[in-house]
Amino acid sequence: MGEFEVIKDIFAPLSSDFKGAFNLTDDAAVFSVSEGCELVVTKDAMVSGVHFLASDTPSNIAQKLLRTNLSDLAAMGAEPKCYLLALALTEECDLEWLKGFAAGLHADQLQFRLSLIGGDTVKTPGPLTLSLTLVGEVPKGKALRRNGAQAEDFLCVTGTIGDAAMGLQVAQGEITCSSEVLSETLKARYFMPEPRVSVGMALRDIATACLDISDGLLADVGHLCEQSNFCAEIDQQAIPLSVAASELLAADPDLWSLVFGGGDDYELAFTIAPENLSKIQHIEQETGTPIYVIGQIVRGKGVIVRGKEGKKIDIKSRGWTHI
Ligand code: ADP
Ligand code: MG
Repeated sequence: MGEFEVIKDIFAPLSSDFKGAFNLTDDAAVFSVSEGCELVVTKDAMVSGVHFLASDTPSNIAQKLLRTNLSDLAAMGAEPKCYLLALALTEECDLEWLKGFAAGLHADQLQFRLSLIGGDTVKTPGPLTLSLTLVGEVPKGKALRRNGAQAEDFLCVTGTIGDAAMGLQVAQGEITCSSEVLSETLKARYFMPEPRVSVGMALRDIATACLDISDGLLADVGHLCEQSNFCAEIDQQAIPLSVAASELLAADPDLWSLVFGGGDDYELAFTIAPENLSKIQHIEQETGTPIYVIGQIVRGKGVIVRGKEGKKIDIKSRGWTHI
């Protein structure tokens, strides 16, 4: 199958809901921004052997590529609209692979309501390299930034923390859970992130700062603090953990390093003024996403973690253990 057939048969059907994509038959797509809105644009690239394994299923590779971008839009409070793909395909990417890849995109297009509107397809001797540009919208001036946190704001996170990093270790056979079900839930958190798009949109007028946790809890909260020029105090015991993660941590406290430092959870971390705390419950109900207060913003720099009885944990010199 040549490049043109691939575009026509595999990718054009993914653009059919978007008028200005012209079924991928023209040189570029055309669309207007909704009244009163501005565009929010993000891009992620993934390289085989670095960000995924060639043995991963093509539909999962597609979904991870789309979902990591969706998580960035969620962090900005934006509503996803459309995306462009750049694919540098290897010989191994046969028709079956491409069909699987498109099936993954199709499933997520339905779930997150967006369309493919263009891209480029080239060949490479390797490694397989994929990039996606995602376009969303937000009412003018309402995008959530990293830089608005204020002293006394509460620091919140969605979902549970550390699962994806533990899931990767489970997948690599480095740690094991007590049951297959728990292993699978952790692995799913790594392979199939759940971007918090509806939470991000609901936070538009509520959060003072927001970002998604892709590098690790402490690193990302650190980025928020740096941009906001404040310090965050995190209560270790308030960090939400899944059943599987709690069990693994009880058996091996060293794994706390994955809660603090492991990436890929794609949960949101955000700050809210104390008077808005009651609005969080409403967002939880509306979006079906649990939200937890894990700390507070104070004057100063960096991130402080407090353990039992409020004792400060010196993460650098003591490592992650014995806490
Ligand atoms: P050009 O000659 O400008 O490189 P192409 O032949 O690569 O154009 O692309 C033709 C059309 O197909 C364009 O609308 C482009 O956006 C679209 N397209 C090409 N590859 C992809 C892809 N992988 N996904 C989506 N659209 C694609
Ligand atoms: Mg052209």
